[in-house]
Amino acid sequence: MKDRFVYADNAATTPIDSRVLEKMMPFLTTEYGNASTLYALGQSSHLALEEARRQVALLMNADPGEIYFTGCGSEADNLALRGYLHSRQAKGKTHLITSCIEHHAVLYTAQALEKEGFSVTYLPVDRDGKVRLADLEAAIRPDTALVSIMFANNEIGTVNDIAAIGALCREKGVIFHTDAVQAYGHVPVDVKAMNIDMLSISGHKINAPKGVGALYIRKGVLVEPQITGGGQEKGRRSGTENIASIVGLGEAARIKRENLEREMTYLRGLSRKLIDGVLQMPQTILTGHPTDRLPGTCSFCINAIEGESLVLRLDMNGICASTGSACSTGSLDPSHVLLGIGLSHEISHGSLRLTLGMQNTGEDVDYILERLKDVVDVLRAMSPIWKA
Ligand SMILES: *Cc1c(COP(=O)(O)O)cnc(C)c1O
Repeated sequence: MKDRFVYADNAATTPIDSRVLEKMMPFLTTEYGNASTLYALGQSSHLALEEARRQVALLMNADPGEIYFTGCGSEADNLALRGYLHSRQAKGKTHLITSCIEHHAVLYTAQALEKEGFSVTYLPVDRDGKVRLADLEAAIRPDTALVSIMFANNEIGTVNDIAAIGALCREKGVIFHTDAVQAYGHVPVDVKAMNIDMLSISGHKINAPKGVGALYIRKGVLVEPQITGGGQEKGRRSGTENIASIVGLGEAARIKRENLEREMTYLRGLSRKLIDGVLQMPQTILTGHPTDRLPGTCSFCINAIEGESLVLRLDMNGICASTGSACSTGSLDPSHVLLGIGLSHEISHGSLRLTLGMQNTGEDVDYILERLKDVVDVLRAMSPIWKA
């Protein structure tokens, strides 16, 4: 059954690029110095750390001094939300605005802040998954401290109008954070042109290792540390730096910067082929914005079948995919993102996400389409609700 192995879940994580691994290797072996020490071995780590900071900054048009490395994308989101709101609390700025389809690293952090006494507005999104500017403008209050709206959604791939949101926040004097974990390295990101004050990224979504991330904090924005200790990262994130992984993140940023346009064109072409093929099957829809979407993200709802069954049967065929349907999370409700864009429980049950990466080829897409059609036919033949 498994004629091929096709990894099509690049929004969940990506394989490490061989160039990234090569760059990391010395720091996992011979170059083990602590970057805070004075002797040459430690200085070698320090130099590598600062070069990675420069590379990470370049890909978002930030200054290197505005990049703070963290242990993951989730930690960057936590630092932005908790760290900024706590720094403004004494001034009576206790209101946060976010959207209802954020990643849980933002959503659950916002809920935790509510329990602490902060107030949170969860903006709705339109059918394509975008925040409406008018809704945001209407939600801003005198006590609003922070707006946190994701750059691109991890389930449906929709890219928000970030420059417009940034301009509005700047005009209103409200700090703007964006979770750009899915966007950075995949679409152009420019913190200056887009008026972004804080931005989260993660290594493992751009072919660097898991367990490393970063938060861009615009110079002058005060964020209280969430991890105190040795004072690394200018006191904003203590803990001896994970040099190897940070070096990997820096190298991945360099590679993405040098290849961004080419990779976007390549992935758009592959996605077009996949999306067209899936939509030729009866009773299938594309979820997310038709054009303002991540180049490699293809998300669908396939009527009358269950996402979990689909994913398991695709796995038997050597294809890695994912679903926002109910059981995958152990809960009865489909994902908050699918409900957030207004899909019914029934439609959401058949959700399927295929996210392509640079390792994927046209033959991979042909194989996915061939097997998906077979699997869907089999599942629909067993489905009590299927009507052709
Ligand atoms: C993956 C992801 C995160 C979490 O990043 P980790 O490094 O896995 O903690 C946060 N936000 C979005 C949009 C993501 O896709």
